[in-house]
Amino acid sequence: MKRVLILGGGFAGVESAIYLKKNKFDVTLVSDRDFFYIYPTSIWIPTGALESEDARISLDELSRKHRFELIVDPVVDFDASTKKTTLESGKILEGFDYLVIALGQSKLGHDGIEHTLSICGKPKQATDLYDRLDLLVQRKSGRIAMGFGGNANDKSAVRGGPAFELMFNVDTYLRKKKMREHFELTFFAPMAEPGKKMGPEALKVIDKMFKSKNIKRRVGTKILRFEKDGVVFTDQTKLEADLIMYIPAGTGHHITTKAGLPLNEAGFVKTNRFCEVEGFESIYAVGDNAALMGPKWKAKQGHVAEVMARNVAHNIALHAKGIQEGKKSYVEHLSILCVMDTGDGAAFVQRDERASKIIPMPIFGHWMKKGWGWYFKNSKLGKIPRIPGM
Ligand SMILES: Cc1cc2nc3c(=O)[nH]c(=O)nc-3n(C[C@H](O)[C@H](O)[C@H](O)COP(=O)(O)OP(=O)(O)OC[C@H]3O[C@@H](n4cnc5c(N)ncnc54)[C@H](O)[C@@H]3O)c2cc1C
Repeated sequence: MKRVLILGGGFAGVESAIYLKKNKFDVTLVSDRDFFYIYPTSIWIPTGALESEDARISLDELSRKHRFELIVDPVVDFDASTKKTTLESGKILEGFDYLVIALGQSKLGHDGIEHTLSICGKPKQATDLYDRLDLLVQRKSGRIAMGFGGNANDKSAVRGGPAFELMFNVDTYLRKKKMREHFELTFFAPMAEPGKKMGPEALKVIDKMFKSKNIKRRVGTKILRFEKDGVVFTDQTKLEADLIMYIPAGTGHHITTKAGLPLNEAGFVKTNRFCEVEGFESIYAVGDNAALMGPKWKAKQGHVAEVMARNVAHNIALHAKGIQEGKKSYVEHLSILCVMDTGDGAAFVQRDERASKIIPMPIFGHWMKKGWGWYFKNSKLGKIPRIPGM
């Protein structure tokens, strides 16, 4: 039986493991943590609408259900030319027939970043956001700033959706507590039209939502630095804040950028449309750590990571049989799909080659996203059947 090593246990790594097992490979998955973190539902942690535990799936449970070997031990080095992986414990993994790199992305640094918390960072940051918000709620007033940054070298690595979602959730939470009027909420971003990727209609709807919810906007000026009590912009103005939630744009994962792999300008691993790493037969890159091909508006998303993963399992199976024809490409499946939650409703955002749309879904949308979280967890663990494509 051919052996496959998967680095990373998120959307891309776990889906690769499940589908490679279905294709009868001997699969080992390495992760630095013992759980799969469901980022899309983690937006409810800062307002206490979800416990951190509920945004996790035990990797041990997943490995037993899908019968792959699990090693929880951070990768500290990977060398593409020898296909040798070194783990923090000193253990060396080598001799695998195929390698799937699914390590996600690192984040761009920023002067004073330590004064911010990100909903897209390590899971602890989401619970820290809960603690900090709770302090302001106990004080019954505060200035909250939330925003995201850009990456001129790869716009697909810019993650804005969760900043909008969290801002709207905090607004709803404070309204429910009847203290919204004592809080100043400001959204900030360096680009003139944050959210443009989702399409022109989405931009208009989000703008309307900001106005109707009295959320201020500070966009179009670059961020100079963060300070303990605010955001300083390059025009020397300062947005005063007691709590700053900032999502830095992504950049190549720190392990893959020193692995001798081909990289794009932003440090993401270059592959062809079949996720085969350029110049390295039998090494594949999937999910956020791969440089996405495709249209200008493309975005690194969980559902894209899963399509790449399923395709890679298929493509590796063909390669193992010596078949060149019939490989699957992810590029035709690129789309932006998001149920943008507000805590009391949602808006369904979709963009693909043909069109872009945003459909408001009051009340029902919120419960639909909650339902998706339940479905995702239970279907991954094989407790309920999976709906094709989801
Ligand atoms: C708050 C938030 C909300 C989102 N909402 C949506 C949404 O609604 N819809 C959507 O499609 N997408 C959404 N996304 C994007 C989606 O979560 C990502 O695109 C997806 O997580 C990418 O999967 P991945 O496996 O490539 O990376 P990750 O999920 O980041 O997984 C990478 C894995 O590698 C592991 N790892 C990292 N370094 C090491 C190391 N040195 N050694 C071993 N293991 C390591 C990590 O622990 C992690 O488990 C959201 C993201 C965030 C942050």
